[in-house]
Amino acid sequence: MTRTYKNYINGKWVRSRTGECFENINPANTGDVIGRFQKSDREDVEQAIASAFNARKQWRDTPAPRRGEILFRVAELLVKEKESLARDMTREMGKILAETRGDVQEAIDLTYYTAGEGRRMAGDTVPSELDKKFCMSVRMPLGVVGCITPWNFPLAIPSWKLIPALVTGNTVVIKPATATPLTVVNFIKIFEKAGLPPGVLNMVTGFGSDVGWPMVEHPKVNLVSFTGSFDTGSQIAAGCASHMKQFSLEMGGKNAIIVMDDADLELTVEGILFGAFGTTGQRCTACSRVIVHHKVQKKLTALLVKRAKALRLGDGLNSKVDVGPLINEEAQKKVELYIKIGKKEGAKLLCGGGVPKGRGLGKGFFFEPTVFTDVSPHMRIAQEEIFGPVVSLITCRSFDQAIEIVNDSRYGLSSAIYTRDVNKAFQAIQELDTGITYINASTIGAEIQLPFGGTKGTGNGHREAGTTALEIFTEWKSVYVDYSGKLQKAQIDT
Ligand code: NAD
Repeated sequence: MTRTYKNYINGKWVRSRTGECFENINPANTGDVIGRFQKSDREDVEQAIASAFNARKQWRDTPAPRRGEILFRVAELLVKEKESLARDMTREMGKILAETRGDVQEAIDLTYYTAGEGRRMAGDTVPSELDKKFCMSVRMPLGVVGCITPWNFPLAIPSWKLIPALVTGNTVVIKPATATPLTVVNFIKIFEKAGLPPGVLNMVTGFGSDVGWPMVEHPKVNLVSFTGSFDTGSQIAAGCASHMKQFSLEMGGKNAIIVMDDADLELTVEGILFGAFGTTGQRCTACSRVIVHHKVQKKLTALLVKRAKALRLGDGLNSKVDVGPLINEEAQKKVELYIKIGKKEGAKLLCGGGVPKGRGLGKGFFFEPTVFTDVSPHMRIAQEEIFGPVVSLITCRSFDQAIEIVNDSRYGLSSAIYTRDVNKAFQAIQELDTGITYINASTIGAEIQLPFGGTKGTGNGHREAGTTALEIFTEWKSVYVDYSGKLQKAQIDT
């Protein structure tokens, strides 16, 4: 029998007031129903926010090292449950087991790293211009944080938001992606086991407009932390701005690898395959453009196409599989449409381009790893985020032209260059307008101790992970302590 999962509000597992549920299915096998989840609405969100609001003072007043201790226990439980979390995740969203294990590992790394902020979270002390006056700045929690997350990193991305929000003393309501609620339910159970007090973290499942949007509009939510598409992100930005509330946005990418004429081509092809077809191309940092120097274009293309054709598609739980399915039928149709668009625009299809016919593949939303060549920088396939296993080869004649092509994008998340020329590598770091740049490595593979995010249409200037996450989830308070026993006037008493 299909299991029904509930919302988590004020430390209790509760049904939605709507009395309705939605089904979550395995994208590798549509006959496999993962579970039934609450199809919640505004009233459920209202309850969850009230619970977070009421828990706010107690959590804020809990010493930060104590908050950190609970989160260290979360990290330990993630380690213990890594395999079952990864297996549920592969079944729920399709990416191969090696990658879902990586997703859990990222959450483990982030949790250990960020829980330590409970004993750091440093501010500044600076001298005063007056005698017997002490000046410092301290971080303050914002209050109630609403987190809205996507499905492609079902555990890692929630961890990027929940752990820094909680260690800094905020209380939280999370709305998981509609396609991956099970992983977040599993995560919430871990917080529960770790001893997080009731009300500090709440979860409401459902659709974006029914659950996400009420968080944007609610006056008691102080910050909305969102990761997802550009279109949803810009609606959220406008909504938050009209309610004068803070927001952080992590959105799409159109990431590129530059291949110079001195590149190690075997290594480059490994990087392109990993970047373009890992997670079936459904990473915000996926490599979807390769800007290749004309002198090595022929050789690189031949190597890449040979390897792309050899990738094995199937259920990600099978260890022989390289590429899992797309997330759903809508995604499959979207990728198919982009193949048509690419052909119509005059790009040449070198391999893939369709829904595969192999044994067992008809039960899932699979798509062949696809390589286009003869792509020009302004084609739609070179500008729009396809979010599938499609990579476009664009030929360039010089380093400067390559940089220009990469930067000619509405997005600015990740970029890479393969070259043995150290001068070119450093020039690329300086000139590529992206939040992340890799040298002789693919566009994917961020580590949690560094800031994560992008420029232009990818974000609104914040960076998650690293210590920069603290900037999102705290506000500065400047404190002046006058111990002179008299009225002292800054700028006046000199
Ligand atoms: P999406 O925008 O469709 O959904 C993201 C979340 O927003 C989901 O939980 C969804 O239910 C919710 N939502 C949808 N409409 C809403 C509304 N009107 N109000 C409030 N919430 C709403 O994105 P997706 O398809 O889940 O994820 C894929 C996108 O996420 C891609 O564009 C990808 O590049 C991006 N992404 C970015 C990063 C990053 O860190 N930059 C990381 C992963 C994914």
